[in-house]
Amino acid sequence: MQTAQCLNQIKPYLFAEIDRKRDALREQGIDVISLGIGDPDLPTPQHVIDAMMQAIQKPQNHQYPDYAGSIEFRTAAATYMKNRFGVEVDPKTEVLALIGSKEGIAHLHTAFVNPDEYVLAPSIGYPVYSIGATLQNANTYFMPMKAENGFLADFDNVPAEVLAKAKIMFLGYPNNPTGAIAPVEYFDKAIAFCKQHGILLAHDNAYADLSFEGYVAPSILERPGAKDVCIEFFSLSKPYNMTGWRIAFACGNEQAVKALGTVKNNLDSGQFTAIQEAGCVALLESDEFVAQMNSIYQHRRDLVVDALRAIGMQVEAPKATIYVWARVPKGETSESFATKLLEKAHVIVTPGSGYGPDGEGYIRISLTTPDDRLLEAVERMRSAMA
Ligand SMILES: *Cc1c(COP(=O)(O)O)cnc(C)c1O
Repeated sequence: MQTAQCLNQIKPYLFAEIDRKRDALREQGIDVISLGIGDPDLPTPQHVIDAMMQAIQKPQNHQYPDYAGSIEFRTAAATYMKNRFGVEVDPKTEVLALIGSKEGIAHLHTAFVNPDEYVLAPSIGYPVYSIGATLQNANTYFMPMKAENGFLADFDNVPAEVLAKAKIMFLGYPNNPTGAIAPVEYFDKAIAFCKQHGILLAHDNAYADLSFEGYVAPSILERPGAKDVCIEFFSLSKPYNMTGWRIAFACGNEQAVKALGTVKNNLDSGQFTAIQEAGCVALLESDEFVAQMNSIYQHRRDLVVDALRAIGMQVEAPKATIYVWARVPKGETSESFATKLLEKAHVIVTPGSGYGPDGEGYIRISLTTPDDRLLEAVERMRSAMA
């Protein structure tokens, strides 16, 4: 038996070795604190759970869902876009329900990328942008991303031969893992670039609503001409603590939405309609809940940033997302430092190198751990570093 060649291209999971060490420590009864995973620790809000309890009782919800998503869910997504960003999208032709945005992002490659072609992906980013290309027997060009440029992916120097074969450019701000935000002028520049070169611009806006200190993240679709070239991905996972529910949507350019829909209706049969029904409530009735979550994350962010600075690490307080991105101390690599923290402090952080070439030299700390455990973790890091 031989697997497809593209599977051999996928590097062994970077975090597997850390998982192995963690399991070995836990087997010895050692208390390991994980700050590695971007999965909210707090529960889905009660109003969404209540909506689910009602939705699951309805026999019409027990049949195959609508392929593109129920018209109610797509309309709720369009209403959210209008209320939140002032963006108009037609629920019938410009919105598609997804079984989580990871699925949608992965399948976008199937819809647009032929073997040997290219996607342009940030050199620090959500791994699916490039793995999706690999699974399509296509290539990734990593756009440089540096602290001195505010971690804005640089597409000024893409080689002509890459550009000629480039089909999708992926961007995502507020950014996982760097916590960076993008000024709207950057979006305008990316839109003009993609228009000029006939490239689909896919914007991953999973953290649009998780922000601090009054910062309000935009949708790229607010920008003039965006709908000519952009598809934007929104996920209910992070803002409403719904990672396990698998519900998200894509919206924007009609042709892109349609192409992604064609791939999906040949591969899956949509998300459980009851989950979509609860998703409508999450999208439309959660302003207060999200504000509460933001104040919790902001408090945790400040705890972590203060503690990291106290132990001499270089770190900026992010304006958005649920991550703190920190430079490793001199003489360490991402992996050596993450391993040291695990072995000496029994704390798991994510090595930045797992997010792409420019992630080397950083670690990511996730704020999805209760305050007391976060404090305990940074305290342990402090003694391990002393
Ligand atoms: C969590 C995350 C996603 C995926 O979210 P799901 O909707 O749960 O699949 C997509 N993009 C980024 C940047 C994320 O951090």
